Amino acid sequence: MSVKRLIVATGNAGKLKEIKAILTDYEVVGAKELGLPTDVEENGADFRENAAIKARALKALTDCAVLADDSGLCVDALDGAPGIYTARYAGDTATDDENIDKLLSVMQNVPDEMRGARFCCAICFIDEDGNEIFGDGFCEGRILHERAGSGGFGYDPIFFVALYNRSFGELTDEQKNAISHRKLALEDLKKKL
Ligand code: IMP
Repeated sequence: MSVKRLIVATGNAGKLKEIKAILTDYEVVGAKELGLPTDVEENGADFRENAAIKARALKALTDCAVLADDSGLCVDALDGAPGIYTARYAGDTATDDENIDKLLSVMQNVPDEMRGARFCCAICFIDEDGNEIFGDGFCEGRILHERAGSGGFGYDPIFFVALYNRSFGELTDEQKNAISHRKLALEDLKKKL
């Protein structure tokens, strides 16, 4: 039997690598590689809705199975913000550095014991026939008072994880990918496939 193709709504090579390593029953291909558009307005109310919006838009263009994810950072002291607005916390065109600066500034008076936070990821998989399956993953940590390390992307330098006693920004890709919200969401999805 030929291997089934899974088209992923991303152009991010790191995400594709993570997905390929876990969903080994599929030939995983990025939508961008196939010239398929992935720009769609993410106007859902939560991570699952946004992942579904992206996956459904891609599924409308192909007969293959598709997958999309949505992720972000939820901070306890901010009642779960920035949440689905994580990528544009400091403005629509904000850089990673500007987003980090804004979060550090908003939290400058928050004491250590109240700096709990988690990265959240929702994945929406739609099979060839249009059936939708979701996976969810969370990674617990806390927000540092200043940057530590320069690896990774996004908020990695200020997200501290107790397991390694380090920030995400100080971890190797292998260390981070072993515990990341995306990895756990993919594992959750895989169990349901
Ligand atoms: P997206 O789901 O890839 O659009 O991610 C939303 C935003 O969440 C990104 O722009 C990052 O700022 C942040 N984010 C998601 N995952 C991570 C991560 O593993 N490390 C750091 N930041 C992340």
